[in-house]
Amino acid sequence: MKLVLFDLGKTLEDGDVLLPGARETLEAIHALRDRDGDGPAALLGLVSDFDMPAEPSDVPKIQQRYHRLLDHLGIRSFFEPVAERVTLSTEVGVFKPDEAVFRTAVTKAGPALNFSDVLFVTENRGHVLAARRLGMAAVHVRGPGQIDGEVDTLTDLVPVVEAFVSGDGERSESVVVVAPSGAAGSAAAAGLTWTVLGDVLVLSGSPAGVQQFVDATGAAPLRRWAVPPHHLHLVTQIGRLFQETHPEVPVIVDKGRYLVVALEPGAGALRDRSGGGCHAVRPLPADAVVFDQRAAAGRHGGGPAVIDRRRAEDLSRAAFEADLAALVGFRTRHSTGTGFLAAVEWVRTALAGHGYATQVQTLPVGAGTTRNLIADRPGGGDERGVVIVTAHLDSVNSRGGPAADAPGADDNASGAAGVLAIGRALAPHTSRHDLRLVLFGGEEQGLFGSRHYVAGLSAGERDRIRAVVNMDMIAGRNTATRTVLLEGAAVSQHVIEALAASAEAHTSLVVQTSLDPFNSDHVPFLDQGIPAVLTIEGADGANVRVHTELDTPESCDVDLALEILRMNVGFVAQVLDAP
Ligand SMILES: [Zn+2]
Repeated sequence: MKLVLFDLGKTLEDGDVLLPGARETLEAIHALRDRDGDGPAALLGLVSDFDMPAEPSDVPKIQQRYHRLLDHLGIRSFFEPVAERVTLSTEVGVFKPDEAVFRTAVTKAGPALNFSDVLFVTENRGHVLAARRLGMAAVHVRGPGQIDGEVDTLTDLVPVVEAFVSGDGERSESVVVVAPSGAAGSAAAAGLTWTVLGDVLVLSGSPAGVQQFVDATGAAPLRRWAVPPHHLHLVTQIGRLFQETHPEVPVIVDKGRYLVVALEPGAGALRDRSGGGCHAVRPLPADAVVFDQRAAAGRHGGGPAVIDRRRAEDLSRAAFEADLAALVGFRTRHSTGTGFLAAVEWVRTALAGHGYATQVQTLPVGAGTTRNLIADRPGGGDERGVVIVTAHLDSVNSRGGPAADAPGADDNASGAAGVLAIGRALAPHTSRHDLRLVLFGGEEQGLFGSRHYVAGLSAGERDRIRAVVNMDMIAGRNTATRTVLLEGAAVSQHVIEALAASAEAHTSLVVQTSLDPFNSDHVPFLDQGIPAVLTIEGADGANVRVHTELDTPESCDVDLALEILRMNVGFVAQVLDAP
């Protein structure tokens, strides 16, 4: 037997009025039959925070007041006998989400019931998380005034309850192990579904399959989760923006930019919404690599013939720090504001001073406009291609309006200062192909600058592009060992390999790679089949300061940025002179 426990206030009713769909939902759940078809599939219960008694003798009076409310709403019959199926904080002496309240509710409904037999339904995200921590299933249903929920309406809840009571996938478990990605072969042999995230493998399947894998590989499971594989989802996020918006969702693997989370099967609303570009949620890819991690080679650790080491060394820490400070000094570089315009002019002057021919594109962003700054240095060969180095110049404070302080040091003064550094390092050298530097506006509003730029390219111009290297957040230290993530798509796999080779030749960076591009200025290029790669700080943790006034130079790791720049300069210099 299962128990479906409802919260009352704001979940089923608001201001003594039933919410839309409440009665129909209770009726539909009440009508669900067990496997033999003769008994109910689930008991219905209520667990509510209600008035606390002044004295113990007040409890019955307060309970009767609550029962009268159920009469008034016309839903009391679903919860009879109320002495067993209705539990109030009044009688327990503490409020939800205290374990005692849930414990009392479950014990009263049936002495044989365990928390794992219970599905708790509420509009309160904090209570959802608490219930899941106790081992209950729980669903966040969108309440009055809330913009989303794991299920959007009460009626959407019915299939979730149906799946829960029918025990779908109960005999599955998921295991997280630290293992080389090569161990995926053993997982497949054991009949398990596998997903690689850097140095961990997420495995799902039968407990026997998991045991077979553990026996074969000697891997020690880090975590075990009794969730069916179809509950597992992959989140890609900027900073910690998914976790800040959805603290109720249990995180199984935390790799910063990437999370594996468990969602109830009805959580379509979470899955389908893009999260305003701050996060994306999709089913966990099965038998797939989300990102791979390569060992660090050690500085100048050999690898292929050294790629123009001189230029890679030609990066000045002092100049980078000065550029970072100058960009943050505009207070905000919000795409449509005057600080952004001033930053564009400042960068334009700097690059013109190094001999680059500059031009500005103006483009709409909502009701305002923003700009892209383009700086060119032609090569000297015939049949020239072009290498493009990009970053977004704009910043945003997502907690404040356009005028709020948005230093955007890591996101993305670091990348913009990186473009300047690469421009400076390569300025004195002649090359065969053209070098183009582009600083985009409107990235934070949805890649406006890069989409506009790519849309304006002719077929001939697109074909001339040998590689695009995008930098977005290169100075946030999220990992024990300094790490870069190279993110592209199949069309840019060769660029990823060449960047990784440059990292090996010029840096001590650990290299992570991913073919799962997400929400930065490399994406519009990839969408057009242009070989672009994002170079970004590694993904084992995440910078919690991005998009706030706290994203300042003090929290940046300049050594990480300089390592990523050495890799990028080495690569760009090589491609500029390639036949
Ligand atoms: Zn950014």
